[in-house]
Amino acid sequence: MNYFLFLNHPKGEEVYKVSEEREEILREHFKRVDVLYTVVTMRGKEYRAVVDYSSFSNLANFDCFKCQDPCCADNPTIYEEETRNFILDNLEEYNQKTKNIDILLESGFSIEDIIESIKKDDCLAPNEVIENEISLCSCSFKPNNESVLCSLHSICLEKKLGAKEIVEKKPLVCSLWPIDIISEEDNSLLYITVPDDFTTGFTIEDYYDTPCINKELSMSSSFRRKNPEGFLEEEYVPLIMAYGETLKYSLGEVFYFDVLKKLIDENLVYTEELDIKEKQILKK
Ligand code: SF4
Ligand code: SF4
Repeated sequence: MNYFLFLNHPKGEEVYKVSEEREEILREHFKRVDVLYTVVTMRGKEYRAVVDYSSFSNLANFDCFKCQDPCCADNPTIYEEETRNFILDNLEEYNQKTKNIDILLESGFSIEDIIESIKKDDCLAPNEVIENEISLCSCSFKPNNESVLCSLHSICLEKKLGAKEIVEKKPLVCSLWPIDIISEEDNSLLYITVPDDFTTGFTIEDYYDTPCINKELSMSSSFRRKNPEGFLEEEYVPLIMAYGETLKYSLGEVFYFDVLKKLIDENLVYTEELDIKEKQILKK
């Protein structure tokens, strides 16, 4: 089995392969919990999926502007053509935020080399400097030298692009993070869940370290000392709502409405909560 969203990770198998032990825990988990079968559409391709749907009613609060945890700490994928073209079309804005072009020019690269690198290199920068020059994801930036944000996402917002375009320009793994998708070797079936107390034995992300889906962690004194502002208890809402539009454009409307209907039918979310529109993706 593979961590499906990491199949294009620059480090390859060492990241996306699921160990035998984790695979066993996952298969047990999906036998034990209530699931629904549906179809997801990602980047125009359809897949059969089994969903641990109740995990989408878990509470989430993506308070990224106030978060001091750098979750963009690595290049998450070999970038798609759509992202590369978006950067090249917005090179000035990209450089203003990330300073990547300035840094590479200072390191002796020509502008032609840099453009060629954005077109072709796995991580948008020459391979020989990627580890030395960029310790965070190539697209990340620190607007106030503290919180880490995504330049792709920010440029989209500045250009008033909507949720659909943001999902198209950013790596899928980033739009969906920390939702976990594990696939059979031949992608014949995807297993979809969210890290929590029950799934943390097999998910690629560590629930206990992820404040946006772990309210208890965000309320702890050690976390509050690092993040004195933000992550208010009342701002946690069911993940299906926090990520509504994102889910529709990343995984398709069939997936989104199947999961939502099931959660409402089973009283795991309430229709009156539905007027909490998905704002996180469009927050500035
Ligand atoms: S850890 Fe969560 S809240 Fe913090 S920046 Fe990452 S996604 Fe945002
Ligand atoms: S969200 Fe943006 S900055 Fe963060 S890892 Fe993804 S592409 Fe990089």
